[in-house]
Formats: sequence, C-alpha cells, structure tokens
Amino acid sequence: MRIVSGIQPTGNLHLGNYLGAIRNWVKMQDAAAAAGDDCLFFLADLHAITVYNDPAALASNIRQMAAALIACGIDPAKSILFRQAMVPAHAELCWLLNGTARIGWLNRMTQFKEKSGKNREGASVGLFAYPVLQAADVLLYNATHVPVGDDQKQHLELARDIAIKFNADYGVELFTLPDPYIGATAARIMSLRDGTAKMSKSDPSDMSRINLTDDADTVLQKVRKAKTDPEPLPSEPAGLEGRPEAKNLVGIFAALSDGTSEQVLARFAGQGFGAFKPALAELMVETLGPIKARLDDLGRDPAALDVILANGAERAAAIAKPTLTAAYAALGLAK
Ligand code: ATP
Ligand code: MG
Repeated sequence: MRIVSGIQPTGNLHLGNYLGAIRNWVKMQDAAAAAGDDCLFFLADLHAITVYNDPAALASNIRQMAAALIACGIDPAKSILFRQAMVPAHAELCWLLNGTARIGWLNRMTQFKEKSGKNREGASVGLFAYPVLQAADVLLYNATHVPVGDDQKQHLELARDIAIKFNADYGVELFTLPDPYIGATAARIMSLRDGTAKMSKSDPSDMSRINLTDDADTVLQKVRKAKTDPEPLPSEPAGLEGRPEAKNLVGIFAALSDGTSEQVLARFAGQGFGAFKPALAELMVETLGPIKARLDDLGRDPAALDVILANGAERAAAIAKPTLTAAYAALGLAK
C-alpha cells in the first residue's frame, strides 16, 4: 500500500489546522509505518500558484508549513516529505496527462466552479487544470491510496479516469488506479470568539484562535477569555445543541484527548466553565508545548529544514523516475 497526500502551504498555523489536517497525516504515517506501507507527503506549492500569491509570502508559508509538519510529528525517517516544486516530474507528468484529460471532464469539476465563481473567463488556466496536476501527483508514485475529503472525491475519480484512458489509448499498464483512503475523521474547530465561525488564520482577532506558536501564558489567556455561556456542561452531547461555543470547547477537548464528546461530558457534566476551561487550557499546553519547542528549534536552524526537504525531494524523484520515463516512452517520446 502506498499513500500519497499533498497539502497547500499556509503560514500562521493554528489549532484548527493541526486537529483538522496535520494530525491526521501524523496518524496516517504512524499507521502506515506500523503496517510497513509507504507514505509520501508533499507541500502542494505548484498548486498554490494557480491563484496569485505574493512570492515572498509564499516562500515563507512553504517553510512555515514544512516546519509545522515536522514539529507536529511528520518524521522524515518514516515518511517522504517534500515540496512538489522540487520534484520536476510532477509538472512534467501533468503536461503529458494534459493530452489525455478532456475539457469536458474538467468542466464538470465543482471545485473549479466554486473557486472561479462568476469570473470563469478571468480564472487562470492553472486553476482549471488543477485536477490534472493532482492526477500527476498520485499517478507518478503509483499511489494505491489517497486520503480525500468530500471536496476532493471528484478529483480522485478524475485521476482514475485519466489513468484508465492513458493506459487504454497507449496500450500500456502503466498507471495504478488510486483508491480513496478513509482515515480518521477530521475535527472541525470553531473560533474561540464565535462558535458558529470556523477557526481561521484570516480572522482579524488573534483571540479567536490558538496559534501553534502561542506560548503557554497566551494559550491560558485565550482559553480564559473564550466566549461561553453561563450554563453548566450537560451530561449528553444533545445538551450542547444551541450552545455553539460550549460545543466547540468540548469538541476541542475531545479531539485533543483523542476521545469523544460523550467521554468529555461524562467527566465534566454539571461543572461550569470555571472548572472546564483550566483543564482544557492545560491539555492544549500539553499538546502544543512540545510542538512549539520543536518549531523554535527548527526556526533556529533553517539549514536543517533545507536538508530534510532536499532529501525528501531526492527520494521522491527516484520513485517517480521510472513512471515518468515509461510515460514518455508510451507516448513515443522515449528519451
Ligand atoms: P484561510 O482563512 O486563509 O482559509 P485557514 O485557517 O482556513 O485559512 P487553510 O490554509 O485554509 O487554513 O487550511 C489548511 C488546512 O487546515 C486544510 O486542510 C483545512 O481543511 C484545515 N483547517 C483549516 N481551518 C480548520 C478548522 N477550523 N478546523 C479544522 N480544520 C481546519
Ligand atoms: Mg481555509
């Protein structure tokens, strides 16, 4: 089994990014390592340029994301961690697959419709062809399993269609058809100031989120000031309906302790936030403290990060090479 997954580089990472995305990668990695499977994780920096990004900000986000992944537990000894832009085979195979992918198929992609909105004519060609690059990302490595959220299922189907058509058109059995990988369900973390809004790096209020770089005092203060209601905690999750802030804090506690809301409420039923908040803050600091310490270490030694990413790119390129070579050859472009 080979798992391949990419994530767009973002900076200013917060607890929502950790519990909703990064932690799932770490779980996937550890399950794969135990089973003897391969994991390739990449920063989708080529996907990031399908919309305008300030180049200096993008470069900084790439480094922050790479550091955060490592700090959160992606272990270069267990997984191959790399940047897409450092493995040119992604862009090359994407171009080769552009000859096979059909405009009609891409026209059906709902994500492009959403992202381009009413300004379809003004969207970049890259945004339209985004799923072809995604197909290249996984077909290049003969990925058998690709973790996908609901929004990405259609793109994985497209990757399969491209693989099937390429194999059939050129009479080869080159590309493996990837299947979706259903891992742990991702938590959805809401703002500390408004339980109906997602915790997000773009929220103007820093008090709305816990950043991975927050120190223990800041975490304590943010949790203390988090919006709540005056009621004590109920004994069942049903009692949290209509109480979005309470529901969010219980959900965060559950996610951090790898348990369920039922378990959290079994422990705190009848207690007020005066008791619950310090316990929650302590749990956050327990989880985030070591992550922040590793982030600080990586920040002090940027060369170490470069070495990890260069090694990852080299290992990924070695796996990609035979597939890319065979794809050129299948097309009559043997080199
Ligand atoms: P923006 O406000 O710019 O959209 P963001 O804070 O939502 O930023 P993204 O860069 O969009 O962060 O997301 C990176 C990853 O983190 C994605 O996989 C996304 O699903 C996940 N993620 C972001 N916010 C949350 C959240 N509040 N809860 C769970 N997962 C989240
Ligand atoms: Mg977002």
